[in-house]
Order: sequence, then structure tokens, then C-alpha cells
Amino acid sequence: MTIKKILVLHTGGTISMHEDQDGDVETGLNNPLIDVKMAIPNVDLTVESIFNLPSEHIGPEHMLQLQRRILAADNAFDGVVITHGTDTLEETSFFLDSTLSVDFPIVMTGAMRSSNELGSDGLYNYHSALRVAANEASRNRGVLVVMNDEIHAARFVTKTHTTNVATFGSPISGTMGLLTKRQIIFFYDLPKRRVLPVAHVQKSIPVLKAYAGMDGQLLELLAASNIDGMVIEALGAGNLSKEAATGVGYLLSRNIPVVIVSRSFNGVAEPVYDYLGGGVQLEREGVIFATSINGQKARLKLLIGLDNQLNTHELHDYLHQL
Ligand code: ASP
Repeated sequence: MTIKKILVLHTGGTISMHEDQDGDVETGLNNPLIDVKMAIPNVDLTVESIFNLPSEHIGPEHMLQLQRRILAADNAFDGVVITHGTDTLEETSFFLDSTLSVDFPIVMTGAMRSSNELGSDGLYNYHSALRVAANEASRNRGVLVVMNDEIHAARFVTKTHTTNVATFGSPISGTMGLLTKRQIIFFYDLPKRRVLPVAHVQKSIPVLKAYAGMDGQLLELLAASNIDGMVIEALGAGNLSKEAATGVGYLLSRNIPVVIVSRSFNGVAEPVYDYLGGGVQLEREGVIFATSINGQKARLKLLIGLDNQLNTHELHDYLHQL
């Protein structure tokens, strides 16, 4: 029987936190997961605490550090498990998925209940993530998110509930796989994704949510500022009010790329409506439609595309790809 070597990178989050006597959840000085001995047959763990941060304190610089740590491992491992706060887990997993081309599994997990809470899900999820990372069938699937007996693809997963342990879902694609007591089952393979390297992540790319009656003032102000790009969570299939569409025009006239996703929880953004503010006219003006990802992921994808100096046409293609 071959031994699987797994690199574990702990980053913090509820999975590493504890509840105090008032019921408030806080980060301790040390990550309690470091001392946990996980007994998985034929698995050899190398465990590191790369950060001990709530995931709201994790940004693209930390994601880049994680990415570099995995690249530095230089195929010395058969899999990687990352524990992470759930609030921005989908972003870190998407960033790694978009910038790392490795065949071994990279599996992210977290918890909704901290280490000493009743019904804490941390150790269970950690154990599940290790099982998935050590499984042959998990190879060549990009970054996976494992929580609550489910396996999700980083590309489509999102946090759907503030507190429920079943918080992670993939509204567009559905759950990719399941863990049972004895099996790990994958239901489908994903379409190929484009992986690009990334060197710098210091871009200013705000995300704005559209709403009924949105005016163009904020967009005009942003157009006069130093932003590198803009993501708008537009209405429905990707439409805006007339005033917001005018605001978008200011951004485009300054060559600031504008990416449209939908503010709807499920579905694909695509140009359908041909009137002022409708997706067809927005696209004609130069707006880029990002297919099937949410605003927070489109922001990272634009950041990666800009770091690779993709031209306008290439940016369209890159963001349009699943
Ligand atoms: N606020 C926490 C974090 O993201 C939530 C969690 O981990 O579940 O760090």
C-alpha cells in the first residue's frame, strides 16, 4: 500500500477559533488544529500554520502567499489540504484554482462552529478534507471545497447561509461529489478551465451591486479615481438602469474595464435585452460579461487577467470562459 503525503496549511477561521465564556467566538494565540492527530490509514501529514487569521483579514496577498507555498512544495506531496475561515473561503479557493495548474488535489475546508462549541463541525470537516485529498479520484479536478459531507468545485461554490453547517452550495453546477462513511463519489467532471500565472495582486477593483433606481453618481466618481477595473453585480441576466448605464459609459471612456455579473444567486449573465441599460447595449459599449461566476470571483478573475496584461479582446474571452 503506497503512503500518500499530504501537506496541510492552516490559515485560521472558525475551524481554529473557540468560544469564550460569553459565547463570543475568538482567535486564540495558537491554532488548536496543529496538535490534532488525525488517523487516516496510509496518509502521512506535514502540518504548517501559515496564518492564524479570520478570513475577513485574508486578501489577495495572502492568497498569493498560499499559492507560492504550494508551488514551492514542487510536487513533493500527493495532495494539499487548506483550512480557512468560511467567509472568504470561496475567494481563496477560486484564486488558487485560477492560478495553479497541478494534478494533485487541493482541498479547502472550514467550520461553522468553533472548536469548543456543541456540535462543532471542524474536526469532522478536516477529516473529510484529508480523505478527499488522499483519494485518487480527486486528482485533476482543480481546487475542491469539502464541508458537511459534500464536495464542491472552487469555480462554482459559494457560501449560501450565515450560520448553517450546510452553508456551501454550487447553485449553477450542483454538488460535485459526496463523502459517505466508506466512499468518495464524484458525479461529474468539470469543463476545462484556463489557468494563468499571477505575480502581482495590488489592483484596485471595486464590486458594486445594482438596484432599482440606481444612479450613475458613484460610477462617475469612480471613473475619476485611480481604479484599475470595476465589477458590477447587475440586474437579472445583466442589465442596469439608464442612469447606471450612463455611469458605466464614463468608466469605459477612461479605458477602465467593466465586468458584469448577475446579482441573482443562480444562473448565467449574458446580453439579452436591447434597450438603454440592457445587456446587449452594455456589451456593445464594451462591457465584459463574466459567465457563471459571482462578483467576488469576477473581481479576482479580472485582477488575474489584468496582471497578465490581457488586451480588451483577450479579457472578454477569459472572463467569458466557464
Ligand atoms: N468569520 C469566520 C471566518 O471567516 C467565519 C468562519 O470561519 O466560518 O473567519
